[in-house]
Amino acid sequence: MHEFSLAERILECALEVSGEHGGAAIERVVLEIGALRAVVPESLKFAFEAASMETAAEGALLEWREIPAEVECRSCLETYCPQDIVWCCPGCGATGGRAVRGDELIITSVSLSDTPCLEGAIR
Ligand SMILES: [Zn+2]
Repeated sequence: MHEFSLAERILECALEVSGEHGGAAIERVVLEIGALRAVVPESLKFAFEAASMETAAEGALLEWREIPAEVECRSCLETYCPQDIVWCCPGCGATGGRAVRGDELIITSVSLSDTPCLEGAIR
C-alpha cells in the first residue's frame, strides 16, 4: 500500500501551504497522477482522508487528473501511448522504450478556506 506513504507526503505539502497562510483550513488538493505510477486514486483518497483527520486538511477534497503514459521507442524514436503493460511500438514493432511522460505525481493546487481555522471552535 504505497498509497499511504504518498498520502502522507501530499498531506505534508498541503499542511505546509496552510502553515504559510496562518493555518487556514484546506478545502481542496488537486493532483496530476501519471498512469505509470500505478497509483489507485481511490485508495489514495481513502488514505488521505484517514491521514488528514484532526489536521487543517480534515474534510478536504482530493481531486486528480490522470496523465496518460507516453513512451519513446528505442529503435525508431517514435513516441506512442502504450495500450498494454507490454510496450510495443506501433511504428516498428519493437518492444520496450523510455517513458517520457506518465510517471509524475504532482500537486497542482492547494485551495485554502478564506477563514482561518478557529482554535477551540465549537464541536
Ligand atoms: Zn519504433
